[in-house]
Amino acid sequence: MNRFSKKSTRPILLIFLCLLLLPMTLTARQEVDKEYTQKILEYTTEKFFLTELVDYLPASPPIPNPKEILGEVIGAPDILHYTDEINRYMKAVAGKSSRVMAFSSGLSDEGKEMITVAVSDEKNIERLKRIKEIMTLLADPRKIEESEADKLIAEGIPIYWITGGLHSSECGSPEMLMELVYRLAVDEKDFFQTIRKNMIVLITPILEVDGRDRYVDTYRYKKEHKDKKTLPLVYWGNYVAHDNNRDNIGLALKLTENMMKTYFEWHPVIMHDLHESVPYLYTSTGTGPYNAWLDPITINEWQELAYAEISEMTKRDVPGVWTHGFFDGWSPSYAFYVAMFHNSTGRFYETFGGTGADTMVRNVGRQSQRAWFRPNPPLSAVKWSFRNNINLQQSALLFALKHTADNHDKFLRNFYLKSKRSVAKATTEGPAGWVILSEKRPLAAADLVNLLRKHGVEVHRAKEEFTIEKEKYPPASYIIRMDQPYSRCADMLLDIQYYNPTDPRPYDDTGWTLGALHNVEIRRIVEQKILDVPMTLLEENVKIQGRMLQPEKAVAFLINHTAENTLMNLRFALKDVKMLAAERSFKVDDKRFNAGTFIIPVEENPSDMASRLKQIVEELGLTAHGVKSMPKVKTHPLAVPRIAILHTWIFTQNEGWFRLAFEKLGIPYSYISVHDIRDTKDLKSLYDVIIFPPVMFGKAQRLVNGISGNSPIPWKKSEKYPHLGGPDSSDDIRGGMGLEGVVHLKKFIEDGGLFVPITNTASIPIDYGLAESVAVIKPTKLKTAGSVLEARFSDLNSPVAYGYDHTLAVHFNGAPVLETGMKAATGGIDLEAMMDSEAKERASGRGSLEDPDVIQGRPHKPPKIKGAGTGIPPEFRDMLNLYMPPDLTTIRVILRFARKEKLLVSGMLAGEEDLQNRAAVVDVPLGKGHILFFAINPMWRFQTQGSFFLLFNAALNYDNLGVGKPKVQSTE
Ligand SMILES: [Zn+2]
Repeated sequence: MNRFSKKSTRPILLIFLCLLLLPMTLTARQEVDKEYTQKILEYTTEKFFLTELVDYLPASPPIPNPKEILGEVIGAPDILHYTDEINRYMKAVAGKSSRVMAFSSGLSDEGKEMITVAVSDEKNIERLKRIKEIMTLLADPRKIEESEADKLIAEGIPIYWITGGLHSSECGSPEMLMELVYRLAVDEKDFFQTIRKNMIVLITPILEVDGRDRYVDTYRYKKEHKDKKTLPLVYWGNYVAHDNNRDNIGLALKLTENMMKTYFEWHPVIMHDLHESVPYLYTSTGTGPYNAWLDPITINEWQELAYAEISEMTKRDVPGVWTHGFFDGWSPSYAFYVAMFHNSTGRFYETFGGTGADTMVRNVGRQSQRAWFRPNPPLSAVKWSFRNNINLQQSALLFALKHTADNHDKFLRNFYLKSKRSVAKATTEGPAGWVILSEKRPLAAADLVNLLRKHGVEVHRAKEEFTIEKEKYPPASYIIRMDQPYSRCADMLLDIQYYNPTDPRPYDDTGWTLGALHNVEIRRIVEQKILDVPMTLLEENVKIQGRMLQPEKAVAFLINHTAENTLMNLRFALKDVKMLAAERSFKVDDKRFNAGTFIIPVEENPSDMASRLKQIVEELGLTAHGVKSMPKVKTHPLAVPRIAILHTWIFTQNEGWFRLAFEKLGIPYSYISVHDIRDTKDLKSLYDVIIFPPVMFGKAQRLVNGISGNSPIPWKKSEKYPHLGGPDSSDDIRGGMGLEGVVHLKKFIEDGGLFVPITNTASIPIDYGLAESVAVIKPTKLKTAGSVLEARFSDLNSPVAYGYDHTLAVHFNGAPVLETGMKAATGGIDLEAMMDSEAKERASGRGSLEDPDVIQGRPHKPPKIKGAGTGIPPEFRDMLNLYMPPDLTTIRVILRFARKEKLLVSGMLAGEEDLQNRAAVVDVPLGKGHILFFAINPMWRFQTQGSFFLLFNAALNYDNLGVGKPKVQSTE
């Protein structure tokens, strides 16, 4: 009985045990936040815009999900969050979860905090310091043995860095990243556990925090003023709008600096930047040509990760996930090059965005067509929601994270291997090193060296003179060894680029050779013996100590003009001091001083001038030479110009680079809008120089008429929209400079002002008749894009050319191509050539091409008449002059593009005959003032330091630009 009963109790016990265990298994299966989940499903327009990774939200008290902190689920219609809300959420999760940590990444240009969050499992979070140490060691294989590397790879885990919100109008990623942090921190599914266990996910939700807030305000404004015209995002961050993704060469923005700091702290093996544009999810590889300085392993990782995502998403019936197209893969100016430059892999997405948090029917046109790289294309039309965007970004990212986690060992090993191969570069593919020559322009050379150091590149200085590849270099020459971890970065920045014009259309710049653009001589050294030159590593930035020579009894001090940007600081540092510019080069004792040399006379200046000058030249790194007698050279006073940088309300990106350069260099300027031109009758009473940087979409009529609309469009801070406004503000941004502005501008120039239109803003003085002997022409064959080209000074006596050599490398973006002289003045007719009796081509007639033709029925040698021949006959010239613009005889081409054989320095160029010898910088006098046209951009993306001084010379000599004008201008 007992036995039986014992037996019989067994099943009951089992059932009892099962009942006991049941709640435990139920708790092991994580609860779902039903309300949040239901909203995700509601806000997603089609099932195929969901995956099993994001079609629910796990509940995990006490870790707050975004709705609990911010009040709505992520991707809810019409809802966007400000930077401080997003930061608050991230910090709240970090405060509650032992799997999340939040850090400050620094402040933005406008002083807002950028944050970065690390997510992993508890054990990894506890050993973050050690993981960072491991990455630092793997990043520099010179410091470890191979066997140690194996151990470190086994001990370490890869860091995958995701960044969002760089482009403010692409607004989904900062939202999505909040939800992603939450999921990564709390979801207990194996998928998520694998990610947490095998990697650190680093997340910077907003790279452009200033622009994010401005965008959210414009979006809210639009929603709250449906009857009104859309409010454009006039400024994003403080400077360069969309071009904040083109700063990774010049490193000028705070956000770039903060990214560099974050990179070097963590050494993430992958950096992934989130963008929005094309449907539905483009994952970057690119059409090629790919950047030629990257390790092929990096390119392979691009492909590997892209196809891992495409395959997982396509398996789940998500349409329109593709790669290959969109961008080329060539230029290193993008934000993700913070990784690429340093042996990590940088990549990006473009998901379908661009409409804020709206839901609407979207047509995608030709992008719905199938192509080999897009076998499952987007649908031609679909109802699209903000949540769809969140789902796609997040799902694909999770697959990329999982792929990296599953292959954690490989990605770490690849990183180490790439670092090792970078160190080996000096002796494998080469070159062995680069030398930067500093004798001619020491400050510019130092500036380039300091930029390379900012990129993490090691720079050495030679201890003594050395000779290599038949050239002798002085002691203290800068050497960049290619047996260092970041050799590829230096090589990429200093080398020459060749972009074949028959390759796919370039996405951006094709050339960026920094030595050329900084006007600093550099040498590529193949001979490995460079590595044996005795040298010392620079431990800190180069600072040149200036000096004052022979100050005793000096009647004047001379500072040679070498077109170094610091000279501009000198002028503004001693505003009250009279300075003269030498109009020709001259010699004192045996030293040659260039045209433009600053001459500072003692007599006409305050008594403390010499001591102040000494202090300032020492600080700026300049050399002042005291002389006992005034040099015998013609001079004119150097102005302290009141400079204005002019902006439109249409587009502020390109002028932002000018402001940035002026501010970085500490040069004062006024920031004015086209409305100031419209409303100020006497501009010359306020400014001496007005610079008008390029404006996209800026044909002359648009620049003059500006933004249209029936009611005022304000761009200003208010209680309701605290982030609008700035850097410039207005109650109403409608309208351009207006015809009255053109008149004011004309008067400004005639009164003695200098107007400097850069590239396409040339259309205003040309189309409105302020200059007639300059025209913009449309070349038929020219093919170039963001290339570095050689220009030569055709008029070295112009003050604009002071301090320069005969040639200068310049940045040219393909337009405008300028015509100058007679053809420009007559709209394409070359009267001189028409009147030229010496015909260039022979008429049909007897004999070969070289033989003379013979007219029949008369002696075949006509009599020789003195004075006959070429050109317009004098009797016509007088009358013709009535119909010709006065500037035909006063125009002065200062800088020309080189002849075609010499034109290309770096980048892409075809049809060069369309550009050769054409004007790059032209001076057109008008009244007492001048218009100085730039076909090139002298202040491009903080990369063209070598051509800054063209602008500075023009400004310092604005009231003496006519100096040195040759009697007959070469028309070659
Ligand atoms: Zn973007």
